[in-house]
Amino acid sequence: MTTTPRTALTIAGSDSGGGAGIQADLRTFFACGVHGMTAVTAVTVQNSLGVQGFSEIPVDVVTAQIRAVAADMGVDAAKTGMLATADIIHAVGKTLDEVHIGRNGRIPFVVDPVAASMHGDSLLREEALDAIRTELFPRATLVTPNLDEVRLLTGVAVTDTGSQRAAADALLELGPQWVLVKGGHLYGNPRCVDLLSDGERYVELAGPRYDTEHTHGGGDTLASAITAALAKGRPVPDAVAAGKRFIERCVAEAYPLGAGVGPVSPFWRLSQDNA
Ligand code: PLP
Repeated sequence: MTTTPRTALTIAGSDSGGGAGIQADLRTFFACGVHGMTAVTAVTVQNSLGVQGFSEIPVDVVTAQIRAVAADMGVDAAKTGMLATADIIHAVGKTLDEVHIGRNGRIPFVVDPVAASMHGDSLLREEALDAIRTELFPRATLVTPNLDEVRLLTGVAVTDTGSQRAAADALLELGPQWVLVKGGHLYGNPRCVDLLSDGERYVELAGPRYDTEHTHGGGDTLASAITAALAKGRPVPDAVAAGKRFIERCVAEAYPLGAGVGPVSPFWRLSQDNA
């Protein structure tokens, strides 16, 4: 390839099992045709059975990674995943302003407010939730919480599409331009219905619910696919629709690995391109 592809930056944690975190983000960026770059925030020790622990990266090393790639290679869109501590979140917020990422600059910025793994293992020190609200949400082009994260961040318990709309409004009060309230964990619903809103438009995105327990890394993969589409210059509603189509295929083709929860898979995209 001689043409420089668009670039996307993930500010997130490492998953030693390769299913979630920066590993999921990088392979999604690759599958979506953008060059992926990383600012690693923490190293988790985990496998298909859960997270056994994590160690955060020193704050100045996190911010130096962001500055290094932004200054030289350029960032067309960025996302955050696991940020581990309030100190990292505060420093990331300031650094994003310096390099013009987020609403204070011009570069699209997606916040996936990762709080815990699907096994319930914490990925965020407790005091850090408030920093996500105050430092990241006002800078975000789009935030992509699941229902547990919605409850932690706003106190709203989503039980149906009505309360999903109330949750979107409560999240928008925190300052992001768009919110995507993911309904995948609303198990009573035979479809997966996500709600996208900027306070004026409320768009329901309904998709199939697949019968698989292997959904590790699903949230990261969706947020990364959306970020890749934003890096290519697509408007938020188009980027979210493209991301949702992408994650649906990844969940449909998720595979078992280890004794616990296997990862969602972007392999289908590669085999399609090679066919
Ligand atoms: N590990 C890391 C580093 C993550 O970023 C995430 C999710 O964002 C997880 C684990 C949890 O993934 P899951 O919710 O699929 O267990």
